[in-house]
Amino acid sequence: MPETPEQLHARAAPALRMPPVEDWETFPFDGALRPRALQPPVPVEQPRQGAVECRRCLAPDADYLWTDAHWRLSAPPSPTGLPVVVLLEPRAHCDIDTLPPERSAELGPLLQRVEAAVRSVGEIGRVHICRWGDGSEHLHWWFMARPARLPQLIGSFAAIWDDVLPPLPEAIWRENLAAVAGALASG
Ligand SMILES: [Zn+2]
Repeated sequence: MPETPEQLHARAAPALRMPPVEDWETFPFDGALRPRALQPPVPVEQPRQGAVECRRCLAPDADYLWTDAHWRLSAPPSPTGLPVVVLLEPRAHCDIDTLPPERSAELGPLLQRVEAAVRSVGEIGRVHICRWGDGSEHLHWWFMARPARLPQLIGSFAAIWDDVLPPLPEAIWRENLAAVAGALASG
């Protein structure tokens, strides 16, 4: 029997741990910290964006960096802290468990292709590929480029460093995204 959310909350709320973040070289913050209180479970899972009116389905191709018959690649609306952050999504509204088999077969090669396109920008140490799906129900894959030779930014905290680093100068951000789009268009 899995633990219910109520059981988990009852067990965990009085026993939260503070991990040794001061020893973690990749942790972006300094100073005294404590975990936030664990809020009790809500009665039902909150619906994700797109369950009713999906902004991804409504967005025109002009809003995207690159498209083909079945897939589209977008960027956040304003400069990011990391050199490149882009999102790959199927045209059709589906999630990972409802992605049609034909699209699923294309996904592996496409993840490789987009990863290579992001890396082609240059000065990229690693491209993280993530599927977080709590915000929007329309399947989307994050590609987050970690700058080269900054070992403090390695690993999953890169997603937090994206908000800690100041936004890229607009011209560099646009140039980087154009390089990604160019690499995808040419291959
Ligand atoms: Zn959608």
